[in-house]
Amino acid sequence: RAKSDKRQPIQAFELHMDEALSFRRTMRKDLAVAIAEDQLHLLLQPVVGARTGELASAEALLRWTHPVLGAVSPAKLIPLAEESGQIIAIDDWVLEQALVYAAALGDVPIAVNISPVQFRHPGFARKIVDRLSAHGLPPHLLKLEITEGVLVTHTRAASRAVNELREAGIRIALDDFGTGFSSLSYLKDFQFDSLKIDRSFVTDLENGRQSAELLRAIIDLGHSLNMTVIAEGVETARQASLIQLLGCDFIQGYFTGRPMPFEALEAMKAGPQPQASPLVRS
Ligand code: C2E
Ligand code: MG
Ligand code: MG
Ligand code: MG
Repeated sequence: RAKSDKRQPIQAFELHMDEALSFRRTMRKDLAVAIAEDQLHLLLQPVVGARTGELASAEALLRWTHPVLGAVSPAKLIPLAEESGQIIAIDDWVLEQALVYAAALGDVPIAVNISPVQFRHPGFARKIVDRLSAHGLPPHLLKLEITEGVLVTHTRAASRAVNELREAGIRIALDDFGTGFSSLSYLKDFQFDSLKIDRSFVTDLENGRQSAELLRAIIDLGHSLNMTVIAEGVETARQASLIQLLGCDFIQGYFTGRPMPFEALEAMKAGPQPQASPLVRS
């Protein structure tokens, strides 16, 4: 009795592990056909001027519509693909699609998220430059977003890639700033063009004075190191106007636009941007 009671959780655990393993195996197989069967697509989320409300750029965000499971979030899909190495093929697909969109939009830079796995790949910078010229695009129309994860290991390779890309005129943003362990030391070792302040700082904004002061300090830090500063995850008019007051350059979030299909972003670029007007008034 006592013995089987002890075994119970172990069996449950093993079953759970088996399930997780076979789930991952299935997902990997499904992911392999996802590109071929056209199940991936990109949404574009507007980044707007904090003072002007004008569309400044857009971030490409990956979506996978699994034939059975439906929408699979990139937070699940990316780690899975990184583990299996499929991330290289996926990031390549994302890059191509983003360049097609950038060419069609003409003057709105598109930002692409780059996995650490991809970034560390030798020849990555070369590939980016080649793809840009294959599409006949000037380098300033592509931005790359990297997180600290890219920089933690292989520091020398990473800094070579950052320098090579920036010399080619491709701008680089440090994404999710403030969530890692030693953000400040990376600012010393690498030169970035912009800083994307993690959503958690924006969410905290209404929890008192401390948060606003912290945000202001980060914005000032970015500016003093010659970076433009983007606040992520701005959801309300109040957050938007506070952030504007703190001196932030750009905002990105549900308030000024959710991730949207290309056609919707094109319309936003062409037409009036009513969702941004409260900013201008404030
Ligand atoms: P990220 O690069 O920090 O992208 C911003 C995430 O915040 C996106 O989540 C976006 O939909 C979400 N977001 C934007 N505004 C708001 C807001 O106002 N409120 C809230 N609650 N969320 C907001 P998403 O699309 O689920 O992507 C999650 C992460 O997955 C991204 O974080 C990025 O790290 C990664 N990812 C997405 N697409 C790609 C891709 O093509 N390649 C790679 N390597 N990673 C990607
Ligand atoms: Mg990003
Ligand atoms: Mg981010
Ligand atoms: Mg993120």
